[in-house]
Amino acid sequence: MSLQRLRDPGMVVFLSGAGISAESGIPTFRGPEGYWTVGAREYHPQELATFHAFSQMPEEVWAWYLYRRSVCQAAQPNAGHSLLADLEQLLGERFLLVTQNVDGLHLRAGNSREKTYEVHGNIDYYRCAVNCCTEHWPLSQGFEDFAKGQKASAEQLAQLRCPRCQAWARPHVLWFDECYDEVTYRYESSRGAARQAVALVSVGTSGVTNLPLQMGRMVAGRGALLVDINPESNPFSQLAQESGGVWLRGKASQGLAQVMQVLKG
Ligand code: NAD
Ligand code: ZN
Repeated sequence: MSLQRLRDPGMVVFLSGAGISAESGIPTFRGPEGYWTVGAREYHPQELATFHAFSQMPEEVWAWYLYRRSVCQAAQPNAGHSLLADLEQLLGERFLLVTQNVDGLHLRAGNSREKTYEVHGNIDYYRCAVNCCTEHWPLSQGFEDFAKGQKASAEQLAQLRCPRCQAWARPHVLWFDECYDEVTYRYESSRGAARQAVALVSVGTSGVTNLPLQMGRMVAGRGALLVDINPESNPFSQLAQESGGVWLRGKASQGLAQVMQVLKG
């Protein structure tokens, strides 16, 4: 079976999306829990997670992120995250993890910073909204336990400022109307990995964002192995099937257990 090709020499790149954290209770963007009400209007995450929304209503967008951050902090890494940490141990230099998740659960589960590219940022950090510098900082204490709909107090708002220039600070995440770059999001490094990898394993991603899909197409286009783990059909499962790869139809933790079994031999 072609899953055995995972054992060929070369780098195996794992690409994770919101689906791997679904088993930790963090909603994906596609489920109904993602919606957010501002005044009389209901927003879809893809409208709110934009620079445009932030520039129109920064306090509302911050309230949404601070709530989401509380959800992420309360969550625990699940069996799928643990398997990826074990796979890093097993594969060593052959391992790379590119994640679209901003929840920080891969690092909490034990994957190393060097081997984990957070290509959409990390919700625990903030940075300058007018790009006066490229630094990002951890959100200080006092922002925990935001309830749904709760807005930051005046005291808290005063902290959501760039420490360098005092402009608004913003969450350190990539928004839907923004572009990837190398310095902030490791764009070129991720593409470089897709050019070299012997296999790409996508886990729990719907393929709505650009870089992951590019990586899938690069790998499949070269005839390297594409494995997709997802309970639902999506662009990666289709690409995998069209290119002689494998769709492991099911939950992230189940599919990763199969991958681990093959790699352990
Ligand atoms: P998405 O919400 O668009 O899609 C999630 C995918 O996961 C779907 O294809 C779904 O079928 C699949 N899925 C659901 N449960 C699963 C399970 N148990 N095992 C495996 N797969 C499962 O998410 P996306 O493709 O990651 O992209 C949307 C954007 O949302 C990204 O920019 C990402 O940064 C952001 N996001 C991040 C988080 C997080 O950090 N946990 C959560 C929501 C959204
Ligand atoms: Zn600044």
